[in-house]
Amino acid sequence: MRIAEREISQVTVLGYGRTGRAVAKYLHEHGVRPFVSDSSYLSDADQSSLMNLRISFEQGGHTQRAIEGADAIVPSPGIDPTISILQLARARGIPIISELDLAYLRSGDTRIIAVTGTNGKSTTVRLIEGILRGEGIDAIAAGNIGLPFITLADDPPDVVVLEVSSFQLEQSSLFHPQVACLLNISPDHLDRHGSMEEYIAVKMSIFARQGASDTAILPRGIDPSKSTIAARIAHFDDVALPENPFVESLPPHNRSNLRAAIACCRGILPDLRADHIDLPALKGALHLPYRMQEERACGSLRVINDSKSTNAASAITALRSVEGQCVLILGGRHKGAGYDDLAHFIAQRDLRHVILYGEARSFLQATLRDVGYTHITACSDLECALKAAASEAHGGDAILFSPACSSYDQYGNYVERGEHFSRLVRSILGQESDS
Ligand code: ADP
Repeated sequence: MRIAEREISQVTVLGYGRTGRAVAKYLHEHGVRPFVSDSSYLSDADQSSLMNLRISFEQGGHTQRAIEGADAIVPSPGIDPTISILQLARARGIPIISELDLAYLRSGDTRIIAVTGTNGKSTTVRLIEGILRGEGIDAIAAGNIGLPFITLADDPPDVVVLEVSSFQLEQSSLFHPQVACLLNISPDHLDRHGSMEEYIAVKMSIFARQGASDTAILPRGIDPSKSTIAARIAHFDDVALPENPFVESLPPHNRSNLRAAIACCRGILPDLRADHIDLPALKGALHLPYRMQEERACGSLRVINDSKSTNAASAITALRSVEGQCVLILGGRHKGAGYDDLAHFIAQRDLRHVILYGEARSFLQATLRDVGYTHITACSDLECALKAAASEAHGGDAILFSPACSSYDQYGNYVERGEHFSRLVRSILGQESDS
């Protein structure tokens, strides 16, 4: 296989998660020998499927085998680019190619709409996919949303709508979307990117290879003057939404995501009219699981499961869209930055109570105390947190689970955390009958 002017016959796939699996399968099917190297241990199912395909692998760490004979390395997005095996590969001149670049090079001239930002990516990507399909365009959402781009490379749709994370952008140097959108930027993943400046630079790199015939979409608040954007710039805040009860019922962040989605679609369909879009057909995109998901609890309490909130900015967004009094549950593994703003917001809004749980509880408690907010209960886990929230809430209040932290202290990901919260709501607060 020829990739970026090089003949490639053996490739090391670093990390065997969802992306690694898809890359290894693709390479194997195209006559390239993959070698899989994972720092943790593979499941029995993964091991036997690799053995069935006669794909060599190592687990529990990356050894010299990962670079010996490798014509290229494709790392999973979650892998820190500074780990020693990648430094060694660079020193030996072995190209490191992201899955995003590989898929881009292999998917011909399919058009790409790419969306990045700290929050709202999945929602916006699903909205774009839905709007384009409603216009009769063959569009598929892929990337960080769950379906690795490489799985579409052999038979790409007319338009690939890609959710792109900062980790994927950091590893990519070829990928060139015709339409690129940056939704927003607030502190997140600074442990990986080192500083806010670095994080912004990585996010801005989504525009780096665009030319004058491409479209760059940003909110008015982000000043692109410091980076060079060659594409035509459109500000999504300028998109006029139709005035109707459906749009009026949306929380502000989803109105903003809808504006961004329409702006992105206009990069492909310049004459798209917002009032012609079948908005009710987009309901699914606006209510993705574990994003402000209403749980069915007994009595007059409203319970909202926003497990996908993994940074301070998304918890502020969640609080903005909840009316009335509220008990907030925060916790998990904190991201270091952005929590002062959240604490000020909580103090100003004078929330009924805040329940803290998990690894971040002492840090969050100190941050809240620093701004003078003291209606706090600290718990070890989510079960204890929900019980505490239920005892603090008054009739008619909302219990908002918008943790503002990653789930990795106690869960594999936000979905596991969200599922657990749903189960806890059912067992602790009961469920209303359908009748
Ligand atoms: P992402 O894919 O970027 O994580 P999602 O669409 O999955 O974004 O939403 C994640 C969280 O961010 C949700 O909990 C939601 O409340 C919040 N959110 C969604 N859109 C926005 C936005 N435009 N600005 C700020 N927060 C948002």
